Amino acid sequence: MSARFDLGTRPHLGYTGSVLDRAAERRHDAAAMAALAADPRARTFAIAGELVCLHKGEPFNDPTFTFAQAAALASGPDRIREQVFLGRNGDAALFGVAIDPDAAEPLKSRGDLLVTDLRSLATGALVAPEHLPPLAEAKSLLGWHRRHRFCSNCGAPTRLVQAGWRRDCAACGAEHFPRTDPVVIMLAIHGERCLLGRQSRFAKGMWSCLAGFVEPGETIEDAVRRETLEEAGIVCGRVAYFASQPWPFPMSLMIGCHAEAVTTELKVDRSELEDARWFARDEVAAMVLRRHPDGLTATHPFAIAHHIIRAWLEADQGLF
Ligand SMILES: [Zn+2]
Repeated sequence: MSARFDLGTRPHLGYTGSVLDRAAERRHDAAAMAALAADPRARTFAIAGELVCLHKGEPFNDPTFTFAQAAALASGPDRIREQVFLGRNGDAALFGVAIDPDAAEPLKSRGDLLVTDLRSLATGALVAPEHLPPLAEAKSLLGWHRRHRFCSNCGAPTRLVQAGWRRDCAACGAEHFPRTDPVVIMLAIHGERCLLGRQSRFAKGMWSCLAGFVEPGETIEDAVRRETLEEAGIVCGRVAYFASQPWPFPMSLMIGCHAEAVTTELKVDRSELEDARWFARDEVAAMVLRRHPDGLTATHPFAIAHHIIRAWLEADQGLF
């Protein structure tokens, strides 16, 4: 393998590094939860579907609200759809509340507020970095509630319990827990080249790792091999885990891997990808550093694909 590339300081991986104590042992204690919420130090995020509400500020916008402020955003306390406990940051409890997306629309025109999506908050560094992991937690959890108002076992309405970490069905007794959808995202490597793909929705010139959902009854390694074969026609052998990233769109966990390709002839599934091709290490380094002569780039540094690619470029010995 060729010499390690020096790509400079490693960027932070978005939505990771939460400083919150989730205090899961307190969730069942309704009186303790009510006391935490009533504490004047308590704060909440206000999530409206795909949108997050923030106080405008410099250099960062502030996504935290008192409960009274959040209720006002929602047009009244009875308009808050769900309230969930995210954890404690020191002595202050942090919650998330769901407000109706329709109620958030008029807020966009208010001069003191910013109403935008979580991806823009991360890519644009619009909030202090420590807010991103609990915002991802809040959006994923509230997104799950929004999609699970009825029992998947019997169809009856369910109700939120355990400070938002379970929904119970009174009709059949089923307990439903918030789900996270595992997605494998991988860089297939063959010698000094790696396989990148692009979807038509990507920004012009941007290439990334291939990715896909893990299926029931499948290992992470098998999902990596299956997705790479399905999308690009490439057979992979050894698979090495790299790192993971919460991905709150709507509630996934990206599981980053490197995979050793044992074939090279591409057969691209055009229903999944606009294109896929092999890239040499020095070309990929130019993409990561945004110095590619044709303007090609690798994924934004807040996304795990960037880090998976970078780890391959920086590796001074084999990854497997
Ligand atoms: Zn039920």
